[in-house]
Order: sequence, then C-alpha cells, then structure tokens
Amino acid sequence: MTPNPILFAALLVPALLFFCYSLWRRLSLVRLGQPENRFDQPGVRIHEMLLYAFGQKRVVAKPFGINHFVIFWSFMVLLIANGAFILEGLIPGFSLEALPKPLHQSLMLLFDLVSAATLVAITLSFGRRLIFKPDYLDSRYVKARSFEGFFILSCIALLMLAYFGLHGALLAVMGQSHSYMPVSSFVATLLKNSPLADQLFPFATWSWWLHAGVLIAFICFLPVSKHMHIITAIPNCFLRNLEPVSIPTREQFAPGNSYGVGKIDDFTWKDLFDSFSCTECGRCQAACPANATGKSLNPRQVVHSLKANLMAVAQEIRNGKTPTKPLIDGEGEGSNTEETIWSCTTCGACLEQCPVFIEQMPKIIKMRRYLVEMQASFPEELLNLFENMEGRSNPWGIAPTERGKWASTMNVTPFEQGKTEYLFYVGCAGSFDSRQKQVTVAIATLLDAAGISWGILGKDEQCCGDSLRRLGNEYAFDKMAQENVRLFQERGVKKIITQCPHCFSTLKNDYRQYGIELEVIHHGQLLDQLMSEGKLKTTNQGEALGRIIFHDSCYLGRHNNIYDQPRNALAQATGKQPLEFERNRNQGFCCGGGGGRMWLEEHTGSRININRVEEALAKNPDTVCVACPYCLTMFEDGLKDKQSSQTKVKDLAEIIAETVRG
Ligand code: SF4
Ligand code: SF4
Repeated sequence: MTPNPILFAALLVPALLFFCYSLWRRLSLVRLGQPENRFDQPGVRIHEMLLYAFGQKRVVAKPFGINHFVIFWSFMVLLIANGAFILEGLIPGFSLEALPKPLHQSLMLLFDLVSAATLVAITLSFGRRLIFKPDYLDSRYVKARSFEGFFILSCIALLMLAYFGLHGALLAVMGQSHSYMPVSSFVATLLKNSPLADQLFPFATWSWWLHAGVLIAFICFLPVSKHMHIITAIPNCFLRNLEPVSIPTREQFAPGNSYGVGKIDDFTWKDLFDSFSCTECGRCQAACPANATGKSLNPRQVVHSLKANLMAVAQEIRNGKTPTKPLIDGEGEGSNTEETIWSCTTCGACLEQCPVFIEQMPKIIKMRRYLVEMQASFPEELLNLFENMEGRSNPWGIAPTERGKWASTMNVTPFEQGKTEYLFYVGCAGSFDSRQKQVTVAIATLLDAAGISWGILGKDEQCCGDSLRRLGNEYAFDKMAQENVRLFQERGVKKIITQCPHCFSTLKNDYRQYGIELEVIHHGQLLDQLMSEGKLKTTNQGEALGRIIFHDSCYLGRHNNIYDQPRNALAQATGKQPLEFERNRNQGFCCGGGGGRMWLEEHTGSRININRVEEALAKNPDTVCVACPYCLTMFEDGLKDKQSSQTKVKDLAEIIAETVRG
C-alpha cells in the first residue's frame, strides 16, 4: 500500500536528515575528549558485544530485564519491517510479496508475533512506571514518570497498533485470513464485525499514516533524547574495558603536565561516549552503597552530569574559552560536588551492574586525582594520612621498625631469594593494627602448619599504596609503587601471599603498569588450596563454631572474581557451607572501607557498615567471617554500635586456625 509517495518522501527525508544531523552533532562532541585506544583485540570485543549487547546477558540478570530483552529484539526484527514499510511508502508497487513465498510468509509471521509481543512488553513497561515503579528508576534529574519516557513508550505502542490496524483492515478488505498472520487476521475479524466495517479502506489508509507519522516522530526524537542509547549502547559494549579489573591509568609526571579531570574535555572520548550510552536503568544507583545510605553520590547521576556538562560547554571549548559551567563544584545539572566525589568506596558495584559497561567509578577517581593533585583540595582527615604515607609508608605514621614486631613471639625468617618460596606481604593493618595482628599470627601459624616456605620483608616492607591511588594521590602512589617494584626486583620476589585484598589487587593488577608480573595469592585462596591438598588437616569443629556468615570483600570478589575459594576453605574447615548475606557474591554490599573511605568520616546519611551489619544480623549469625582488614574493622565498629555482643567478627584465617589439628 502506497498512499502518497511524494508527501511521504517530503516528510521522511527531512526527518532522516534531522536524525543524521542530531546524531552527528552529539557524537561529534565525543571528539573533544582525550585519546584512548578501545579498538584493540577486535575479536574479543565482537564477542563481548554479541554476548552483552545482542545477548543482553546483564540485562536479563534482573527479572524485569526479560521485558527489555523482548523490546530489544522486537526492535531489531521490526527494523526490517519498518525498512520494508518505508520502501513500500516510497516506491509504488514495492512489496515483500515479491520474495519467495516461504520467506515472505515466514517474515510476516515473525512481524505479526513480534509486534504482539512488543505490545505486551510495552504495556508492562507502562505499568511498571505507573503502578509498580522501583525507586531506583528516579534520579534527581531524570524521572521514571517523565514526558520523555511515556512519549517513547507511546510511540512504540502506537506503531504496533497502527501495524495491526493497517494489516487487519487490508485483510478484511480483501476478505482474507492468513495462518501466517494470526494476530492481523484476528484484528481483521474484529474490524469486519465492528462499526468500521464499511470504512475499512479509509481505516487502512489512516492506520498507514499513523504508522508513518509515529515512525517519523520517533526518528526525529531518538537522537535528541536519552533513547539515543538505542544507537550507542551496542558500540559501548564493543568498547568496554577488557581488563579483568578497573585499574586507574598511570600518569606521566613532568613539569607543566596536568593531572586528573577538572573539566569535561580532560575526560577521554570513551568517558564522553559513556555519557551518551546510559539507558537510565538505575541499576548502578540501586547497587551503590553511598547512594543507599543517603550520600549525594549517585553513579548514574555522575554519568548524567558528564552529558549535561558536555552539552552545555562544548561550544565554549571549541571556541577556546574556559567553560562557564564547572564540572566540579558548580550548581545543578552538569556538575558534581566534592562531597559526591569523595563518597565513593570504589566498591565496583556500579561497574558490575551496568548492562552497557559504563565506567562510573573510574570517572570519580579521575576527578579525585584532579582535586588532590591540581587543587590540593581534599577532606581534612586525609592530610595526616597523606603525610604519614609519604613520610613512613603507613597510614598511622608508625616507625617502620615496628613492622615486624607482630612476629616477636614466632620464629619468622626474613624473605631470602632462593631460600624462601613466598614473600608474606603482611600489609599495614596486619603489621600495625593490634586486632589485625592476631590475623597475621593466625595466617603465619597456618603457613607453618602446612609446611610452606615463606618469609617477610620486616621493616623494609612498604605500604602497597592502594588507598593513595583510590583517593587520587597518584603522585605518592607512583613513588611508592616504583619503590616497591624496585625492592621486589632487588630481593627476587616472585610469589607473594597477602592477607589484605587491597594489597592483593594492587600488587597483582596495578603493579603490572610498572612492568612487574607477580604471582600474588590471597590467604583465602591459599588456605583453600592447602586444605584441598591435605596439607592442613582440621578437627571437625563445625558445631562448636556456630553459625558463620561470609562477607565478600569488594576487592577480592567483584574486583578479582574470587568468590568460591574463601567459601570452600571455610566449608572444609567447619564441615558446612557458610550462611549467605541477602546481597552476596557479585551483588554483595561494601563494608564502607574501600577507596580510602577507611580514613574518612561519614558526615552525611547513615553509615554503610551499619547497613551491612544489620543485613548480617538478620541472619542471626554467631560469627561474621571476613577476609579483609577493612571489613574486619568496619564490622567490629558496626557491631559495637548495634551493641551486638553475641556476634563476633573473625578473619577466615582465624576460624581455620581454630579448627586445625595441633
Ligand atoms: S564504586 Fe561503589 S560507591 Fe563508588 S559509585 Fe560505584 S557503586 Fe557507588
Ligand atoms: S550508568 Fe549503566 S547501570 Fe547506571 S543507569 Fe546508566 S545504564 Fe544503568
């Protein structure tokens, strides 16, 4: 059916030009960003795109994601249907009927069923926004019940209704009913028995123009709305970070260089592309511990602020002017407060949740880096930390000679190349914190019991620098990392045991930027291995140990994908699987201590550790088992606050040490 090709072309061609112009206008802004290579390993990238964009792997991980899956694939299929619709509208006589009959009928069956499925999915989406709206669909600047959201849903629903109106009316006019067009044939029957029965042809024409009009409106609206993600989300999955963990980039320190991100064009082009790919699904917002406890940080809003800022100041940047809208500490949309930037625990929940691989947390670190290195602007609690780290390479400024004192009651040997296999990298908390020193002793005892050859660096050990890096003090981190790498190389260190997931991740992942590949193992992994190999034998104390719940450290779990080994170790030691938090494994909730937050007060909202402690207490455990010094401190503080003396916090090594046969 071709009602009026000239009129249709007169409407469609400007719409397509507007679409291309608007898309180019926005995407060309991305070129203002700094260079970054996201085109390496094309084979892997194509695989990731197929899996996550077309396979919607992360989308369907949530129950309502199935609905999005249906809409996404309907959109793909209906691209063919709408392509055919446009050609039929422009070229009199063009019809898919010219295709071989089986192919034509298969396509029509597909279009019919998919259009019906879309109508159902869109109705559910309407219902979700109107009736059972989850809180995380709303953010400060983007609301679930917005004109834009309803407009797009209405457009899609009208397209489907017009499709069935058109095909139902045409079948009714011709007195036909096709098994390969079951829904349209059903509509035809309804129309024939309705008051429209003697107006079928005008009704078909009217449906055709409705379809054409909505399609044209959709084409115009898409590139100027958040629904631009329909175009950008697929390439964003191709461009994703392929590193297993998110590691900040290394800076080149030289006079005249600037560091971090203080204005929008300091971000890389990929950061800017991210801002156009956000689907506003709110999953990162729902998972963020800072947001959940009432801080101003909302990772979704951080991404949104990039887009708003970029669109506001792009022309000024192009004209070589200083942007009038600051990225940090300005008013309203397009700006982030310093409080927002300092609230992040770098837990990685946002990265884990985002269905299109937007990198929220790394953008926050980049802004922290600018604040620390270019503005010397940071919370005052950090002043001491930075001084202590730079002066004595530990957070408390304790003399390095104290580092090895925990070993005074044991026979501990220094690490010596060729004589000792592993360096036991104790870390600052394990060396200086009185409670954590008990964990250090437990690990050391277990290593001896298993016959492991290990040694320490004692006073020569330095902080790994994790907190410094995550707090944006890259200069101090860089110095520390170089010194550590030099020391490891001098001493011939190749295999390292850590008790802290932050040391583990930094030595294993971040230090690769300094040209060293270390074999790093967290004690949770090693203990599992030793027990599986029978090198550590336990008495069966399962019942005596009571109910144990295991908390995933973000830097062991989400950042390094280590979930099973600590659980296996615990199960081998106690004879039973640990209890699980409601939010566990990759959905786990931070203790509040990562990203340098360990050294900062929480001035706004409720405390993250209390939130997690309450979640633990809901399972009525006797012991919360952790595998990280920060988690240990955060849980102990939280349990004290809740006056819950019945529940203890222990490191995995302490629990295993209690079960090992003497
Ligand atoms: S890393 Fe964690 S705390 Fe930071 S923005 Fe993401 S979810 Fe929030
Ligand atoms: S950043 Fe990702 S997870 Fe967050 S709202 Fe946007 S698409 Fe969803």
